[in-house]
Amino acid sequence: MLATCSWAIIVKSHMKYKDPKQPIGVRIMDLMSRMTLEEKIGQMTHIDSYVATPEVMRTYLIGSLSIGGASPPSKEPYPEAWINTINTLQRGSLATRLGIPMMYGIDAVHGNSKVYNATIFPHNIGLGVTRDPELMKKIGAATALEVRATGINYVFAPCVAVCRDPRWGRCFESFSEDPNIVRVMTEIITGLQGDIHSKGQIGFPFVVRQKKVAACAKHYVGDGGTTRGINENNTAIDFHGLKSIHMPPYHDAIRKGVASIMVSYSSWKGVKMHRNHELIAGFLKNALKFKGFVISDFMGIDKLTDPPHADYTWSIQQSISAGLDMIMVGFNYPEFISGLTHLVKKKFIPMSRIDDAVRRILRVKFMMGLFENPFTDFSMAKYLGEQDHRDLAREAVRKSLVLLKNGKFTDVPMLPLPKTSTRILVAGTHADDIGNQCGGWTIEWHGKSGNITKGTTILAAVKNTVDPTTEVVYEEEPSPDFIRSNNFSYAIVVTGEYPYSESVGDSQTLMIPEPGPTTIMNVCGSVECVVVLITGRPVVIEPYVPIMDALVAAWLPGTEGQGVADVLFGDYGFTGKLAHTWFRTVDQLPMNVGDPNYDPLYPFGYGLTTKPVLEDGSEKYIGN
Ligand code: BGC
Repeated sequence: MLATCSWAIIVKSHMKYKDPKQPIGVRIMDLMSRMTLEEKIGQMTHIDSYVATPEVMRTYLIGSLSIGGASPPSKEPYPEAWINTINTLQRGSLATRLGIPMMYGIDAVHGNSKVYNATIFPHNIGLGVTRDPELMKKIGAATALEVRATGINYVFAPCVAVCRDPRWGRCFESFSEDPNIVRVMTEIITGLQGDIHSKGQIGFPFVVRQKKVAACAKHYVGDGGTTRGINENNTAIDFHGLKSIHMPPYHDAIRKGVASIMVSYSSWKGVKMHRNHELIAGFLKNALKFKGFVISDFMGIDKLTDPPHADYTWSIQQSISAGLDMIMVGFNYPEFISGLTHLVKKKFIPMSRIDDAVRRILRVKFMMGLFENPFTDFSMAKYLGEQDHRDLAREAVRKSLVLLKNGKFTDVPMLPLPKTSTRILVAGTHADDIGNQCGGWTIEWHGKSGNITKGTTILAAVKNTVDPTTEVVYEEEPSPDFIRSNNFSYAIVVTGEYPYSESVGDSQTLMIPEPGPTTIMNVCGSVECVVVLITGRPVVIEPYVPIMDALVAAWLPGTEGQGVADVLFGDYGFTGKLAHTWFRTVDQLPMNVGDPNYDPLYPFGYGLTTKPVLEDGSEKYIGN
């Protein structure tokens, strides 16, 4: 008995990778020296939660997985149910020979937005307006907590796309058309992962146990610059343009220790990014010295069908040789695993390439403290949708609003609105709709109109804000007769785009969908009105502006609609400045600040201001 026990101690003492006191480099080397080719390829395989069971994790030695488009790990809206499901999968991973824990990813692109009851922050298009890195850090930290509240430890965020054309249906995921603003906003990574400088760690933060997540900057590179804004299209720009417009945010993300970078579905100069050796192995890993892992987009390698002879094995060979370390596969993970195994055994891919990939992945896992803390504690569930986070989101909403017009005559501003009046009208399809307010990537992949999660609609916020003596009448599509017969003091029209995400959001017309324009014409033609536009990008608005008294771009504010009312009624001032050019007509596109024929409706940087108002109606003094 004694002999067995001391033998066990000796074996354990040799398992350096299990010893948190060992330097990470030593732990990685020790673990890798024990791994078979199958175990290494398993680490490079990222599956969809839809196909994941503890048995699949164990049998295929899977290293990571994610929730993907529309398949929650638990159908239950409760964070405890998610934690339970994910911890169960983790047990599958830990039951393997070497017990390497798995990473679980989610598209938490504006809060942990797939989960009912989470705090939903404004989408990036609104956050870019704030140009506020401290705010971003706080949003990152809050998002990390809400993600960990559901047992998840990895996020496919932030999107650092520099959107150069609003026809692109993912423009709402872009902080700005200006790379310098996007660079500043990468501070969200520090909030998500922790501060690399606080522990003197170079290259990676020590992701603190239960409260932080690994981040992923995406989509490398040029995703926001595709021709005519068509999703996954070719980005036709020379290397200098790519370097000066689309690359800069990656420099910052790397400096902040981002754990991973996701490759774009798009092409550059006709070559799909998923097989672009020059830009992945060459530029990203060698020139920029990125030390984290490069992940494919979901089934991104399946789209490598350009040459006629392309088959799946060829796609695997091209992508891994280009420098991809982890492949997000669909249902075809067995084919991926056998294909890659074949390529290595036949020496089409050198073992050194596999080792480089696995080293990078394991490094992140060790940095995350996953080997010591593979499970999420149920006590974390309390962070989901907590009040502090909702207050933070409300602050972000206030700062994200851009006032584009204030009064038909500049010397008679309409905003801020008085809290006390006899009767006011609130109209429009987006006034009482949380789903519309949140946009894409909310509960579902493309988002969804309706009462899809907990939050405050703009209508509810207006009611909360006005004096109790003010009558608030809500009519989604009021007729001019109805409006005239009701003697309203003024109206607030809340309208705009309906939720969308990838591809389905591409638009060559950028028209506000009906009944939006009709509601604007009917209401603003009948009573003094402010239009609050809910939109993921600049849209065609010029024809309607003359009839409006005031116009506010509220973007996709998320669950905390109270932030809109805070500013409309003067508790806070308007401060936001456009981070994307507001064009006049689509035939001007693409048009960005600095272009020779720059003739926008509202230029980049535009935004009127108001001062907050005190209870007695006087302006709040806010310094010089
Ligand atoms: C998107 C990514 C996303 C991934 C995983 C893809 O379709 O392009 O942004 O992270 O799916 O859900």
